Amino acid sequence: MSKPRIHILALGGTIATRPDPSGVMQMGAGADDLVKAVPLLGTLADIEAETVSRVGSHSLSFDQIHALAARIAASKADGVIVTQGTDTLEETAFLLDLLLERDVPVIVTAAMRNPSLTSPDGPGNLLAAVRVACDPWVRAHARALGVMAAMLDEVYAAVDVIKAHPTRLDAFASPQSGPLAALVEDRIVPLGLPVRDAIEATRRKLGKVAGTAKPVALLWMGLDEPGRLMEAMLGASDQLGYGGAVIAAMGGGHIPERLADVAARLASAVPTVVSSRAGGGAMLRQTYGGPTSEIGLRKAGLIWGGRLHPLKARVLLETCLRAGLSRAAIADLFDAWG
Ligand code: ASP
Repeated sequence: MSKPRIHILALGGTIATRPDPSGVMQMGAGADDLVKAVPLLGTLADIEAETVSRVGSHSLSFDQIHALAARIAASKADGVIVTQGTDTLEETAFLLDLLLERDVPVIVTAAMRNPSLTSPDGPGNLLAAVRVACDPWVRAHARALGVMAAMLDEVYAAVDVIKAHPTRLDAFASPQSGPLAALVEDRIVPLGLPVRDAIEATRRKLGKVAGTAKPVALLWMGLDEPGRLMEAMLGASDQLGYGGAVIAAMGGGHIPERLADVAARLASAVPTVVSSRAGGGAMLRQTYGGPTSEIGLRKAGLIWGGRLHPLKARVLLETCLRAGLSRAAIADLFDAWG
């Protein structure tokens, strides 16, 4: 039987770093180098390796991920692996999931430990990602699984995966739904299929996304937040160039009461989504009274982000704005997220 054809697209990140003469890690390795470091890959698949960029994921742009999605959509391979940095993996994987509708596995992977350290995780994660892409259960359910992240022998849904620690080897998790599969020895052990209704409905409403970048402000609420960034946006004729805002609110969807007026004005100026700073998860809709709890904020025109993490709500809002959706259409689209 012929081996599956796997297309590896390398963006950069720690997995692709090399030490410079002073010992500091710099972007350097390309896709070929990553593949060469894992000879076992050739026994599993016919590998096509392509270097897309050599940048840290903290410097990637929405436009770069849109271009990457077009490349993946055009790939004739039986599975696609994206290697990148860990810093924004939770956002890029979700954006790819919004943009791609493929019947082949698409898996994002990365490394927490750079190649100069003892036991770097990059080669193992790349091998795991290729194993996942070649696995019969994964291939049979590729569309139902959506874009996945493979890190430290676990497979996560792009919609739920988060980077939950800045330095630990086990930095990635899906606190809301748990992993989709585990890698054990050389096997993939399926653990569950994700509920995809919201993402499918979202994709139908987005249609083909072809517009230009529209920055979205992320306003993280904390104890005693005075709301001056919201005031600054409202004070500028163009809202400082932001096309929308995500408020990372407390708990089930609450912000300090003194922000009632400014939040309502912001929501009239630009589409403003509220999502929970607790890390995403289903929000309240009708429990608490007062102007800046869920009932008051929703009445004032704030859009409910549902179970999306604030970072993912920001990715989705940017995609909606880029697609040219109206405020009402954006509110309707986010409603599917619970
Ligand atoms: N700053 C790096 C990046 O995201 C970190 C990493 O890859 O882990 O590209």
